[in-house]
Amino acid sequence: MRIAIVGGGAAGLMAAITVAEKKVHIDLYEQNADVGKKILASGNGRCNISNTSLSFEDYYGRHPSFVSHALKRFDYKAFERFCRSIGLLLEVKADGRVYPLSNEARSVHEAMRREAGRRGVKFRLGHGVRCVRKEPSGFVVETEEGAERYERVLIAAGSPAAPQLGGGESGLALARSLGHTIVDPYPTLVGLHLDGDLHARMNGVKTEAEVTLYIDGRRAGSVTGDLLFTRYGVSGFAVLDISTEASRALASGWRVALGVHLLPAFDRQGVVRLLGGLAGETGHLTLEEMLHGLLPAKVAQTLLRAAGMEARTLCGGLDAKALRKLAARITDWRFEVTDTHGYRHAETAGGGVSTEEVEPKTMMSRKTEGLFFAGEVLDIVGRRGGYNLHFAWASGHLAGLGMIKG
Ligand SMILES: Cc1cc2nc3c(=O)[nH]c(=O)nc-3n(C[C@H](O)[C@H](O)[C@H](O)COP(=O)(O)OP(=O)(O)OC[C@H]3O[C@@H](n4cnc5c(N)ncnc54)[C@H](O)[C@@H]3O)c2cc1C
Repeated sequence: MRIAIVGGGAAGLMAAITVAEKKVHIDLYEQNADVGKKILASGNGRCNISNTSLSFEDYYGRHPSFVSHALKRFDYKAFERFCRSIGLLLEVKADGRVYPLSNEARSVHEAMRREAGRRGVKFRLGHGVRCVRKEPSGFVVETEEGAERYERVLIAAGSPAAPQLGGGESGLALARSLGHTIVDPYPTLVGLHLDGDLHARMNGVKTEAEVTLYIDGRRAGSVTGDLLFTRYGVSGFAVLDISTEASRALASGWRVALGVHLLPAFDRQGVVRLLGGLAGETGHLTLEEMLHGLLPAKVAQTLLRAAGMEARTLCGGLDAKALRKLAARITDWRFEVTDTHGYRHAETAGGGVSTEEVEPKTMMSRKTEGLFFAGEVLDIVGRRGGYNLHFAWASGHLAGLGMIKG
C-alpha cells in the first residue's frame, strides 16, 4: 500500500511512525526544509509535550467531544510508553504539564525524526503539496516536482498560526477541494490589541492579575496569572489563556472587553479597607506615592490618569467616595479589545476542517474514503499546557491505525 502524508509536524510524524510498523510505503511531504519546526519552537524551546490530565473539556471547537476517543485510545500513559520506546524520557511537573527530561524540544524533534527514518518513512522535504485529487482507484498528490498516486492520504498540514514556522491555510484549501466544510479559522493563544493608549504607557510591565473576559457586556470567564502590558495591548499567560474565547467572539463580531483586577488577593471591599488604612497611616504621602507601594509604578501612574485623579493629592485628604472610586479601578479596570495580535504571534488557531465530517475513531473523512485528517488542521484547539501537542500525537496515532485498517 502507498500512503501520502501531507505535513511533517507532530501529527504527521506520529501517523507516519504508527503506520510504518506495518511496512507500507509512506511518503511524508513537508514544505519546509525540515520536519517539526513547531515542535522545535514549542514551549519556548522546551516543548510542553503533553499533560497528565486530559479531557475533552480542555479543548475548543464546534464539537470538543470529538477529541474524547483519541484521548482515551492514546492517553498520557500510552504516549509515555511510546516515548520511552523511541528513547525519549519525560518529566511531569507538579501541575501535570509534561516536558522532555532533557528540557529541550530538540530531543523530541530528533527522536521523532530518527524513528520515522528508522522505520523507512520517505521524507519529501521542501515539497509543498499543491493539490490532492481523488480518482476512482485512490488519490493523486501533486507538488511542483510532479504527481504521484496513493491509496491513502493524510492531511496533517496544521493551521494558519505562526506562518514563519510553516503555518498556512493550504491544508484547509486541500480539504475544501476534497469537499470538506471549513470552520473559519481564527488565531488563538495570542496577545490582544486594546483600544486607546493606556496600555502603551505601561508597556513592558508584567504583573499578576485576574483578567475577566466580557463578551457583549456579559462575563465569559476569568483567569488569574501573568499579565503583560505591551505597545499593542496585553499578553502574558492570563491573556493567552483567555484569548481563544476572545478571538472567537471578535471573529463573530461581538464586542469584547477585559476587566483587569490588579490585586487579585483582595476583593473590592478588601481593597477599599486596604486603601483606607493606608490613607490613615500614611496621610503625608501623595496618592501616587501610596499606590507605588501596591502596584508597579507605571501602572499606578496610568491608573490615576485613567481614573481622572490628581497624582499629587495627599492621601490623608481622600474621602470615602474617592477611595471607592480608586478601589473600583484597581479591581475592575476595563479595556476594550479591538483585535488579536494576529497569526504571526499566535501559537495555535481555532477553526479548521469540520469535525462533523470526520470519523473520530479513525480520523477518516466521512466524505471521501481513504482520506484522513489529524492535528491542528481540524476544528479543534486546546488550552495552553501541552494539550495541543497531545491532540496532534493522539489524532496522528489514530489516523495511522485508521489508514492501515481503513
Ligand atoms: C511558538 C509556538 C509554541 C508552541 N508551544 C506549544 C507547547 O509548548 N505545547 C503544546 O501543546 N503546543 C504548543 N504549540 C502548538 C503546537 O505546536 C501545535 O498545536 C502542533 O505542533 C500542531 O501539530 P500539527 O502536526 O497538527 O501541525 P504543524 O506542527 O503545524 O505541522 C504541519 C506541517 O505541515 C506543513 N505543511 C503545511 N502545508 C503543507 C503543504 N501544502 N505541503 C507540505 N507540507 C505542508 C507545515 O510546514 C508544517 O510543518 C506551540 C505553537 C507555537 C507556534
